[in-house]
Amino acid sequence: MKKLTYERPIINKINSGMPNKFGTRTEYQPITYIDEVSVKEIMKEHGSPVYVLSEKTIRDTYKDAKKAFTARYPKVQFAWSYKTNYLNAVCNIFHQEGSWAEVVSGFEYDKAIANGVSGNHIIFNGPDKSESDLETAIINNSLIHIDHYDELYMIISLAEKLEKKPKVAIRVNMDTGISPQWSRFGFNYESGEAWDALNRILINKNLELVGLHSHIGTYILTANAYNVAGTKLADLAVRVKEKYNHAIKYIDFGGGFASKNTLIGAYLPGTDTCPTFSEYAEAITTSIINSRIKLEDFPTIILETGRALIDDAGFILGTVLANKRLADGSKSMVINVGVNLLFTAFWYEHRITPAQNFSSHTEHTSVYGPLCMNIDVIRQTADLPVMRKGDDFVISRIGAYNMTQWMQFITLRPKIVIIDTGRQVHVIRKNEKNEDINSFEHVPDHLKKINV
Ligand SMILES: *Cc1c(COP(=O)(O)O)cnc(C)c1O
Repeated sequence: MKKLTYERPIINKINSGMPNKFGTRTEYQPITYIDEVSVKEIMKEHGSPVYVLSEKTIRDTYKDAKKAFTARYPKVQFAWSYKTNYLNAVCNIFHQEGSWAEVVSGFEYDKAIANGVSGNHIIFNGPDKSESDLETAIINNSLIHIDHYDELYMIISLAEKLEKKPKVAIRVNMDTGISPQWSRFGFNYESGEAWDALNRILINKNLELVGLHSHIGTYILTANAYNVAGTKLADLAVRVKEKYNHAIKYIDFGGGFASKNTLIGAYLPGTDTCPTFSEYAEAITTSIINSRIKLEDFPTIILETGRALIDDAGFILGTVLANKRLADGSKSMVINVGVNLLFTAFWYEHRITPAQNFSSHTEHTSVYGPLCMNIDVIRQTADLPVMRKGDDFVISRIGAYNMTQWMQFITLRPKIVIIDTGRQVHVIRKNEKNEDINSFEHVPDHLKKINV
Protein backbone atom coordinates (compact mmCIF):
# COMPACT_ATOMS: atom_id res chain seq x y z
CA MET A 1 0.00 0.00 0.00
CA LYS A 2 1.21 3.48 -0.94
CA LYS A 3 2.42 5.63 1.92
CA LEU A 4 -0.09 8.39 2.61
CA THR A 5 1.12 11.89 1.86
CA TYR A 6 1.50 14.15 4.85
CA GLU A 7 -0.87 17.08 4.86
CA ARG A 8 -0.07 20.08 6.99
CA PRO A 9 -2.85 20.77 9.50
CA ILE A 10 -4.69 24.01 8.92
CA ILE A 11 -7.11 25.94 11.04
CA ASN A 12 -10.17 27.43 9.38
CA LYS A 13 -12.12 30.16 11.09
CA ILE A 14 -15.78 29.22 10.95
CA ASN A 15 -18.41 31.93 10.86
CA SER A 16 -21.39 29.71 11.20
CA GLY A 17 -24.50 30.96 9.47
CA MET A 18 -22.72 34.06 8.10
CA PRO A 19 -23.68 34.69 4.48
CA ASN A 20 -21.14 36.05 2.00
CA LYS A 21 -22.18 38.00 -1.10
CA PHE A 22 -23.21 34.75 -2.84
CA GLY A 23 -25.42 33.49 -0.01
CA THR A 24 -24.71 31.12 2.84
CA ARG A 25 -21.43 29.29 2.81
CA THR A 26 -21.27 25.63 1.98
CA GLU A 27 -21.01 23.26 4.91
CA TYR A 28 -19.29 20.74 2.67
CA GLN A 29 -15.77 19.41 2.76
CA PRO A 30 -14.84 16.97 0.01
CA ILE A 31 -14.56 13.28 0.95
CA THR A 32 -11.36 11.97 -0.63
CA TYR A 33 -10.61 9.08 1.73
CA ILE A 34 -12.73 6.43 3.44
CA ASP A 35 -10.89 4.70 6.29
CA GLU A 36 -7.65 6.12 4.86
CA VAL A 37 -8.20 4.53 1.46
CA SER A 38 -8.41 6.92 -1.50
CA VAL A 39 -11.90 7.21 -2.99
CA LYS A 40 -10.46 7.81 -6.48
CA GLU A 41 -8.26 4.70 -6.18
CA ILE A 42 -11.25 2.56 -5.25
CA MET A 43 -13.16 3.85 -8.29
CA LYS A 44 -10.18 3.34 -10.59
CA GLU A 45 -9.87 -0.26 -9.46
CA HIS A 46 -13.53 -1.22 -9.07
CA GLY A 47 -15.47 1.12 -11.33
CA SER A 48 -18.17 3.72 -10.91
CA PRO A 49 -20.66 3.38 -9.33
CA VAL A 50 -19.39 1.13 -6.56
CA TYR A 51 -20.63 0.40 -3.04
CA VAL A 52 -18.13 0.64 -0.20
CA LEU A 53 -18.50 -0.72 3.33
CA SER A 54 -16.28 0.08 6.29
CA GLU A 55 -15.59 -2.91 8.52
CA LYS A 56 -14.21 -0.61 11.18
CA THR A 57 -17.38 1.46 11.31
CA ILE A 58 -19.55 -1.67 11.54
CA ARG A 59 -17.53 -3.03 14.46
CA ASP A 60 -17.29 0.34 16.24
CA THR A 61 -21.02 1.00 15.91
CA TYR A 62 -21.87 -2.48 17.15
CA LYS A 63 -19.60 -2.08 20.17
CA ASP A 64 -21.17 1.30 21.00
CA ALA A 65 -24.66 -0.14 20.86
CA LYS A 66 -23.74 -3.18 22.91
CA LYS A 67 -22.00 -1.12 25.56
CA ALA A 68 -25.04 1.14 25.93
CA PHE A 69 -27.10 -1.92 26.94
CA THR A 70 -24.59 -4.03 28.89
CA ALA A 71 -23.75 -1.02 31.06
CA ARG A 72 -27.40 -0.92 32.15
CA TYR A 73 -28.54 -4.53 32.20
CA PRO A 74 -26.89 -7.89 32.93
CA LYS A 75 -28.24 -10.06 30.08
CA VAL A 76 -28.18 -8.63 26.56
CA GLN A 77 -28.09 -10.36 23.19
CA PHE A 78 -28.08 -8.82 19.72
CA ALA A 79 -29.40 -10.67 16.65
CA TRP A 80 -28.42 -9.31 13.25
CA SER A 81 -31.42 -8.38 11.09
CA TYR A 82 -30.57 -10.14 7.84
CA LYS A 83 -32.94 -8.19 5.61
CA THR A 84 -31.16 -4.93 6.49
CA ASN A 85 -28.01 -6.17 4.78
CA TYR A 86 -27.52 -9.88 4.16
CA LEU A 87 -24.21 -9.85 2.36
CA ASN A 88 -22.47 -12.83 3.92
CA ALA A 89 -19.34 -10.81 4.72
CA VAL A 90 -21.47 -8.28 6.62
CA CYS A 91 -23.44 -10.95 8.50
CA ASN A 92 -20.21 -12.65 9.50
CA ILE A 93 -18.77 -9.44 10.99
CA PHE A 94 -21.82 -9.29 13.26
CA HIS A 95 -21.58 -13.00 14.02
CA GLN A 96 -17.89 -12.58 14.89
CA GLU A 97 -18.94 -9.84 17.32
CA GLY A 98 -21.33 -12.30 18.97
CA SER A 99 -24.59 -11.39 17.27
CA TRP A 100 -27.17 -14.10 16.56
CA ALA A 101 -29.17 -14.09 13.31
CA GLU A 102 -32.68 -12.63 12.90
CA VAL A 103 -34.36 -13.84 9.71
CA VAL A 104 -37.77 -13.32 8.12
CA SER A 105 -37.90 -15.93 5.34
CA GLY A 106 -36.76 -19.43 4.45
CA PHE A 107 -34.20 -17.85 2.12
CA GLU A 108 -32.66 -15.81 4.94
CA TYR A 109 -32.86 -18.79 7.30
CA ASP A 110 -30.82 -20.91 4.90
CA LYS A 111 -28.32 -18.07 4.51
CA ALA A 112 -27.79 -17.94 8.28
CA ILE A 113 -27.28 -21.72 8.45
CA ALA A 114 -24.82 -21.54 5.53
CA ASN A 115 -22.94 -18.79 7.38
CA GLY A 116 -22.48 -21.27 10.22
CA VAL A 117 -24.95 -19.87 12.75
CA SER A 118 -26.26 -22.70 14.92
CA GLY A 119 -30.00 -23.27 14.76
CA ASN A 120 -30.64 -22.28 18.38
CA HIS A 121 -29.13 -18.86 17.67
CA ILE A 122 -31.49 -18.08 14.82
CA ILE A 123 -34.61 -16.04 15.48
CA PHE A 124 -37.26 -16.73 12.86
CA ASN A 125 -39.65 -13.79 12.46
CA GLY A 126 -42.15 -12.69 9.85
CA PRO A 127 -45.59 -13.61 8.52
CA ASP A 128 -44.32 -16.01 5.83
CA LYS A 129 -42.95 -19.27 7.18
CA SER A 130 -43.86 -22.28 5.07
CA GLU A 131 -44.56 -25.67 6.59
CA SER A 132 -41.15 -26.93 5.50
CA ASP A 133 -39.45 -23.76 6.86
CA LEU A 134 -41.11 -24.39 10.21
CA GLU A 135 -40.18 -28.06 10.15
CA THR A 136 -36.50 -27.17 9.63
CA ALA A 137 -36.65 -24.50 12.34
CA ILE A 138 -38.23 -26.94 14.82
CA ILE A 139 -35.68 -29.66 14.10
CA ASN A 140 -32.84 -27.11 14.53
CA ASN A 141 -34.23 -25.75 17.85
CA SER A 142 -34.54 -22.26 16.39
CA LEU A 143 -36.55 -19.55 18.12
CA ILE A 144 -39.82 -19.24 16.26
CA HIS A 145 -41.66 -15.96 16.71
CA ILE A 146 -45.28 -16.62 15.87
CA ASP A 147 -47.05 -13.98 13.81
CA HIS A 148 -50.66 -15.24 13.61
CA TYR A 149 -53.00 -18.05 14.69
CA ASP A 150 -52.67 -19.98 11.42
CA GLU A 151 -48.96 -20.24 12.11
CA LEU A 152 -49.55 -21.25 15.73
CA TYR A 153 -51.84 -24.12 14.69
CA MET A 154 -49.40 -25.27 12.02
CA ILE A 155 -46.64 -25.40 14.66
CA ILE A 156 -48.90 -27.33 17.05
CA SER A 157 -49.57 -29.98 14.41
CA LEU A 158 -45.88 -30.12 13.38
CA ALA A 159 -44.80 -30.55 17.00
CA GLU A 160 -47.01 -33.61 17.23
CA LYS A 161 -45.79 -35.02 13.94
CA LEU A 162 -42.08 -34.44 14.65
CA GLU A 163 -42.36 -35.34 18.34
CA LYS A 164 -40.31 -32.27 19.17
CA LYS A 165 -41.04 -29.40 21.51
CA PRO A 166 -40.70 -26.21 19.44
CA LYS A 167 -39.26 -23.13 21.17
CA VAL A 168 -41.70 -20.35 20.49
CA ALA A 169 -42.40 -16.70 21.26
CA ILE A 170 -45.21 -14.50 20.06
CA ARG A 171 -44.85 -11.20 18.34
CA VAL A 172 -46.92 -8.59 20.17
CA ASN A 173 -48.14 -5.35 18.62
CA MET A 174 -49.43 -2.50 20.73
CA ASP A 175 -50.08 1.18 21.12
CA THR A 176 -46.80 2.80 22.18
CA GLY A 177 -48.00 6.34 21.63
CA ILE A 178 -46.42 6.65 18.21
CA SER A 179 -48.09 6.77 14.85
CA PRO A 180 -48.45 4.87 12.62
CA GLN A 181 -49.18 1.96 14.93
CA TRP A 182 -48.08 -1.27 13.28
CA SER A 183 -50.86 -3.73 14.03
CA ARG A 184 -50.54 -6.02 11.03
CA PHE A 185 -47.76 -8.12 12.56
CA GLY A 186 -48.29 -10.38 15.54
CA PHE A 187 -50.98 -10.37 18.22
CA ASN A 188 -52.47 -7.21 19.68
CA TYR A 189 -51.88 -6.36 23.33
CA GLU A 190 -54.75 -3.99 24.10
CA SER A 191 -57.48 -6.16 22.61
CA GLY A 192 -56.40 -9.16 24.68
CA GLU A 193 -55.36 -11.13 21.61
CA ALA A 194 -51.75 -11.48 22.78
CA TRP A 195 -52.87 -12.81 26.18
CA ASP A 196 -55.22 -15.24 24.42
CA ALA A 197 -52.40 -16.51 22.18
CA LEU A 198 -50.13 -16.97 25.22
CA ASN A 199 -52.79 -19.01 27.00
CA ARG A 200 -53.21 -21.26 23.97
CA ILE A 201 -49.47 -21.86 23.89
CA LEU A 202 -49.13 -22.44 27.63
CA ILE A 203 -51.93 -25.00 27.88
CA ASN A 204 -50.22 -27.02 25.14
CA LYS A 205 -47.57 -29.32 26.60
CA ASN A 206 -45.93 -29.78 23.20
CA LEU A 207 -44.79 -26.15 22.98
CA GLU A 208 -42.15 -24.31 24.99
CA LEU A 209 -42.83 -20.60 25.42
CA VAL A 210 -39.39 -18.98 25.62
CA GLY A 211 -39.94 -15.32 24.80
CA LEU A 212 -41.99 -12.28 23.94
CA HIS A 213 -41.22 -10.23 20.87
CA SER A 214 -42.15 -6.83 19.51
CA HIS A 215 -40.89 -4.70 16.64
CA ILE A 216 -42.88 -1.52 17.05
CA GLY A 217 -41.80 0.17 13.84
CA THR A 218 -38.74 1.61 12.20
CA TYR A 219 -36.83 4.89 12.47
CA ILE A 220 -38.48 5.49 15.87
CA LEU A 221 -37.59 9.01 16.98
CA THR A 222 -39.11 8.71 20.45
CA ALA A 223 -37.06 6.46 22.72
CA ASN A 224 -39.94 6.46 25.21
CA ALA A 225 -42.03 4.33 22.83
CA TYR A 226 -39.73 1.43 23.77
CA ASN A 227 -40.38 2.07 27.42
CA VAL A 228 -44.12 1.78 26.81
CA ALA A 229 -43.54 -1.43 24.82
CA GLY A 230 -41.32 -2.90 27.54
CA THR A 231 -43.84 -2.08 30.25
CA LYS A 232 -46.60 -3.90 28.35
CA LEU A 233 -44.40 -6.90 27.56
CA ALA A 234 -43.25 -7.09 31.18
CA ASP A 235 -46.90 -7.10 32.22
CA LEU A 236 -47.52 -10.13 30.01
CA ALA A 237 -44.45 -11.86 31.46
CA VAL A 238 -45.70 -11.25 35.00
CA ARG A 239 -49.16 -12.60 34.18
CA VAL A 240 -47.63 -15.72 32.60
CA LYS A 241 -45.54 -16.27 35.72
CA GLU A 242 -48.52 -15.78 38.06
CA LYS A 243 -50.88 -18.06 36.18
CA TYR A 244 -48.51 -20.79 34.97
CA ASN A 245 -45.45 -20.37 37.22
CA HIS A 246 -43.48 -20.13 34.00
CA ALA A 247 -40.64 -17.62 33.58
CA ILE A 248 -40.12 -16.05 30.16
CA LYS A 249 -36.46 -16.41 29.13
CA TYR A 250 -36.19 -13.33 26.93
CA ILE A 251 -37.94 -10.17 25.84
CA ASP A 252 -37.03 -9.18 22.30
CA PHE A 253 -37.45 -5.50 21.44
CA GLY A 254 -36.96 -5.93 17.69
CA GLY A 255 -35.30 -3.17 15.68
CA GLY A 256 -36.40 0.33 14.80
CA PHE A 257 -33.67 2.57 16.21
CA ALA A 258 -33.25 5.56 13.88
CA SER A 259 -30.04 5.86 11.90
CA LYS A 260 -28.63 9.36 11.62
CA ASN A 261 -30.06 9.97 8.16
CA THR A 262 -32.40 12.90 7.59
CA LEU A 263 -35.95 12.11 6.55
CA ILE A 264 -37.29 13.93 3.49
CA GLY A 265 -38.97 17.12 4.63
CA ALA A 266 -37.50 16.99 8.16
CA TYR A 267 -36.75 20.41 9.58
CA LEU A 268 -33.57 19.42 11.39
CA PRO A 269 -30.85 16.98 10.30
CA GLY A 270 -31.05 13.41 11.61
CA THR A 271 -27.71 13.83 13.40
CA ASP A 272 -29.46 16.35 15.69
CA THR A 273 -32.81 14.63 16.15
CA CYS A 274 -32.16 10.89 16.41
CA PRO A 275 -31.87 9.39 19.90
CA THR A 276 -28.54 7.84 20.85
CA PHE A 277 -28.06 4.16 21.70
CA SER A 278 -27.85 5.23 25.34
CA GLU A 279 -31.25 6.90 25.22
CA TYR A 280 -32.85 3.80 23.68
CA ALA A 281 -31.04 1.56 26.17
CA GLU A 282 -32.19 3.70 29.08
CA ALA A 283 -35.83 3.51 27.95
CA ILE A 284 -35.73 -0.25 27.36
CA THR A 285 -33.81 -1.40 30.42
CA THR A 286 -35.83 0.85 32.73
CA SER A 287 -39.05 -0.80 31.61
CA ILE A 288 -37.78 -4.23 32.70
CA ILE A 289 -35.86 -3.22 35.82
CA ASN A 290 -38.80 -1.26 37.20
CA SER A 291 -41.40 -3.87 36.34
CA ARG A 292 -42.84 -6.50 38.67
CA ILE A 293 -40.62 -9.18 37.14
CA LYS A 294 -38.59 -10.72 39.98
CA LEU A 295 -34.81 -10.41 39.90
CA GLU A 296 -34.31 -14.19 39.53
CA ASP A 297 -36.62 -14.13 36.50
CA PHE A 298 -35.01 -11.18 34.73
CA PRO A 299 -35.23 -12.04 31.04
CA THR A 300 -32.44 -11.60 28.51
CA ILE A 301 -33.04 -8.46 26.48
CA ILE A 302 -32.71 -9.24 22.79
CA LEU A 303 -32.22 -6.51 20.19
CA GLU A 304 -32.65 -6.93 16.46
CA THR A 305 -31.27 -3.52 15.57
CA GLY A 306 -30.82 -3.16 11.81
CA ARG A 307 -30.42 0.24 10.18
CA ALA A 308 -28.81 1.98 13.17
CA LEU A 309 -25.95 -0.56 13.14
CA ILE A 310 -25.05 -0.48 9.46
CA ASP A 311 -26.21 2.74 7.80
CA ASP A 312 -23.12 4.77 8.71
CA ALA A 313 -20.80 2.04 7.43
CA GLY A 314 -22.09 2.15 3.83
CA PHE A 315 -21.19 4.50 0.97
CA ILE A 316 -21.85 4.59 -2.73
CA LEU A 317 -19.30 6.26 -4.98
CA GLY A 318 -20.42 7.61 -8.33
CA THR A 319 -19.80 10.07 -11.13
CA VAL A 320 -21.62 13.09 -12.55
CA LEU A 321 -22.99 12.36 -16.05
CA ALA A 322 -24.33 15.79 -16.97
CA ASN A 323 -25.59 19.15 -15.77
CA LYS A 324 -28.60 20.77 -17.32
CA ARG A 325 -31.14 23.55 -16.83
CA LEU A 326 -34.77 22.66 -16.43
CA ALA A 327 -37.53 24.60 -18.20
CA ASP A 328 -38.00 26.84 -15.16
CA GLY A 329 -34.31 27.77 -15.15
CA SER A 330 -33.41 25.69 -12.12
CA LYS A 331 -30.34 23.52 -12.10
CA SER A 332 -30.29 19.75 -12.36
CA MET A 333 -27.53 17.22 -12.29
CA VAL A 334 -27.63 13.69 -13.68
CA ILE A 335 -25.54 11.10 -11.83
CA ASN A 336 -24.85 7.43 -12.44
CA VAL A 337 -26.53 6.33 -9.19
CA GLY A 338 -30.28 5.88 -9.46
CA VAL A 339 -33.07 4.67 -7.20
CA ASN A 340 -32.32 1.17 -8.52
CA LEU A 341 -29.17 1.30 -6.37
CA LEU A 342 -30.37 3.73 -3.72
CA PHE A 343 -33.84 2.66 -2.76
CA THR A 344 -33.66 4.68 0.45
CA ALA A 345 -33.63 7.90 -1.62
CA PHE A 346 -37.42 7.53 -1.50
CA TRP A 347 -37.42 8.53 2.18
CA TYR A 348 -34.02 10.00 3.07
CA GLU A 349 -32.31 13.22 2.00
CA HIS A 350 -29.01 11.51 1.31
CA ARG A 351 -25.90 13.57 1.58
CA ILE A 352 -23.95 13.87 -1.66
CA THR A 353 -20.37 15.06 -1.19
CA PRO A 354 -17.85 15.84 -3.95
CA ALA A 355 -14.81 13.57 -4.02
CA GLN A 356 -12.48 16.36 -5.16
CA ASN A 357 -11.95 20.02 -4.37
CA PHE A 358 -14.61 22.44 -5.50
CA SER A 359 -15.50 26.08 -5.34
CA SER A 360 -17.31 27.20 -2.23
CA HIS A 361 -20.49 28.30 -3.98
CA THR A 362 -23.63 26.27 -3.89
CA GLU A 363 -26.79 26.22 -5.93
CA HIS A 364 -30.16 24.57 -5.45
CA THR A 365 -29.84 21.47 -7.58
CA SER A 366 -32.18 18.62 -8.44
CA VAL A 367 -30.24 15.38 -8.55
CA TYR A 368 -31.47 12.71 -10.94
CA GLY A 369 -30.30 9.16 -11.49
CA PRO A 370 -29.49 7.65 -14.89
CA LEU A 371 -32.71 5.69 -15.37
CA CYS A 372 -35.13 6.73 -18.10
CA MET A 373 -37.91 6.97 -15.53
CA ASN A 374 -39.44 10.02 -13.95
CA ILE A 375 -39.31 8.49 -10.47
CA ASP A 376 -35.53 8.36 -10.57
CA VAL A 377 -34.87 11.26 -8.22
CA ILE A 378 -32.02 11.09 -5.73
CA ARG A 379 -32.59 14.58 -4.27
CA GLN A 380 -35.59 16.72 -5.21
CA THR A 381 -33.49 19.69 -4.24
CA ALA A 382 -30.15 19.98 -2.51
CA ASP A 383 -27.80 22.86 -1.88
CA LEU A 384 -24.84 21.48 -3.76
CA PRO A 385 -21.48 22.84 -4.82
CA VAL A 386 -20.89 22.96 -8.55
CA MET A 387 -19.71 19.64 -9.91
CA ARG A 388 -18.78 19.05 -13.54
CA LYS A 389 -19.36 16.12 -15.84
CA GLY A 390 -16.85 13.45 -14.84
CA ASP A 391 -16.50 14.68 -11.25
CA ASP A 392 -16.93 12.03 -8.59
CA PHE A 393 -18.98 12.09 -5.41
CA VAL A 394 -19.62 10.05 -2.30
CA ILE A 395 -23.09 9.36 -0.93
CA SER A 396 -22.83 8.48 2.75
CA ARG A 397 -24.97 6.57 5.26
CA ILE A 398 -26.43 4.09 2.84
CA GLY A 399 -25.45 0.77 4.43
CA ALA A 400 -28.99 -0.23 5.44
CA TYR A 401 -31.47 -1.78 3.04
CA ASN A 402 -29.92 -0.54 -0.22
CA MET A 403 -27.91 -3.71 -0.81
CA THR A 404 -31.00 -5.86 -0.29
CA GLN A 405 -33.83 -3.76 -1.71
CA TRP A 406 -31.93 -2.77 -4.85
CA MET A 407 -33.34 -3.62 -8.25
CA GLN A 408 -31.86 -5.09 -11.36
CA PHE A 409 -33.68 -2.61 -13.57
CA ILE A 410 -32.50 -1.04 -16.85
CA THR A 411 -28.91 -1.56 -15.86
CA LEU A 412 -26.67 -4.02 -14.02
CA ARG A 413 -25.75 -3.89 -10.37
CA PRO A 414 -22.18 -2.83 -9.52
CA LYS A 415 -19.55 -4.30 -7.22
CA ILE A 416 -19.59 -4.10 -3.46
CA VAL A 417 -16.25 -3.76 -1.69
CA ILE A 418 -15.35 -3.69 1.98
CA ILE A 419 -12.39 -1.92 3.56
CA ASP A 420 -11.04 -4.12 6.36
CA THR A 421 -9.54 -2.77 9.56
CA GLY A 422 -6.06 -3.00 8.01
CA ARG A 423 -7.04 -0.74 5.07
CA GLN A 424 -7.24 -3.64 2.60
CA VAL A 425 -10.06 -3.48 0.06
CA HIS A 426 -11.93 -6.74 -0.70
CA VAL A 427 -14.64 -7.36 -3.29
CA ILE A 428 -17.53 -9.00 -1.41
CA ARG A 429 -19.99 -9.08 -4.31
CA LYS A 430 -19.10 -9.13 -8.00
CA ASN A 431 -20.70 -6.77 -10.47
CA GLU A 432 -23.45 -8.35 -12.55
CA LYS A 433 -22.87 -9.21 -16.21
CA ASN A 434 -25.30 -9.71 -19.07
CA GLU A 435 -24.61 -13.47 -18.96
CA ASP A 436 -25.68 -13.59 -15.31
CA ILE A 437 -29.06 -12.07 -16.04
CA ASN A 438 -29.57 -14.05 -19.25
CA SER A 439 -28.72 -17.29 -17.50
CA PHE A 440 -32.16 -17.23 -15.84
CA GLU A 441 -34.02 -16.90 -19.14
CA HIS A 442 -35.15 -19.43 -21.66
CA VAL A 443 -36.31 -18.63 -25.22
CA PRO A 444 -38.62 -21.34 -26.63
CA ASP A 445 -37.54 -22.76 -30.02
CA HIS A 446 -40.32 -21.05 -31.99
CA LEU A 447 -39.14 -17.64 -30.72
CA LYS A 448 -35.47 -18.13 -31.55
CA LYS A 449 -35.60 -16.94 -35.16
CA ILE A 450 -36.40 -13.23 -35.59
CA ASN A 451 -37.10 -11.14 -38.71
CA VAL A 452 -35.41 -7.81 -38.22
C1 LIG B 1 -36.76 -5.16 9.73
C2 LIG B 1 -36.77 -5.75 11.07
C3 LIG B 1 -35.79 -5.44 12.01
C4 LIG B 1 -34.72 -4.38 11.78
O1 LIG B 1 -35.34 -3.13 11.77
P1 LIG B 1 -34.55 -1.74 11.75
O2 LIG B 1 -35.64 -0.72 11.75
O3 LIG B 1 -33.71 -1.71 10.52
O4 LIG B 1 -33.73 -1.67 13.00
C5 LIG B 1 -35.82 -6.10 13.22
N1 LIG B 1 -36.78 -7.01 13.51
C6 LIG B 1 -37.77 -7.32 12.64
C7 LIG B 1 -38.79 -8.31 13.00
C8 LIG B 1 -37.80 -6.70 11.39
O5 LIG B 1 -38.79 -7.00 10.54
